[in-house]
Amino acid sequence: MIAVVFILLAIVLWVLSQRTQQAAGLPTGDVVYTDAGGWGRLRRPLVSRRLQLTGKPDYLVRDGATIIPVEVKTGRAPAGRPYDSHVYQLAAYCALVTEAYGRRPTHGLIKYNDQTVAVDYTPELEADLLKVLEAMRADETAEHVERSHQSAARCRGCGLREECDERIIG
Ligand code: SF4
Repeated sequence: MIAVVFILLAIVLWVLSQRTQQAAGLPTGDVVYTDAGGWGRLRRPLVSRRLQLTGKPDYLVRDGATIIPVEVKTGRAPAGRPYDSHVYQLAAYCALVTEAYGRRPTHGLIKYNDQTVAVDYTPELEADLLKVLEAMRADETAEHVERSHQSAARCRGCGLREECDERIIG
């Protein structure tokens, strides 16, 4: 009898967790990690010595044998397609997940307020990510780096704004 109660309780908890995930815009599946509170415990960031990269996706969701990174962005989804910066951030998480779990994610998810966008983690995207990382490392040692965008909002939210002589005042 006690075993039956535990089984029923487990089923109820599982159904509730699936509903909570769906309400949060996440796919169904086990949330194995979260950095956004609500599910599980915080863990250390994912680290890749090979790529000299570290990062903490907001969620990792198990989809069968694959782990899918999910990044949550405040605001509405950009028209057309996600910003490159969002795509490369997600690609970096896909690369970190590949190394940490030994299995390449087919895609990652960017969850905006109004929709969740799936981004395929293709070999082309991975190759582009490696080029971006290489360029970023070159910029770190450069004397002068030019701004690559015209977005005042982006500068307003940038942690380097105080020191940056390329910032847009807005
Ligand atoms: S403040 Fe400088 S580093 Fe930051 S987003 Fe603007 S231009 Fe880029």
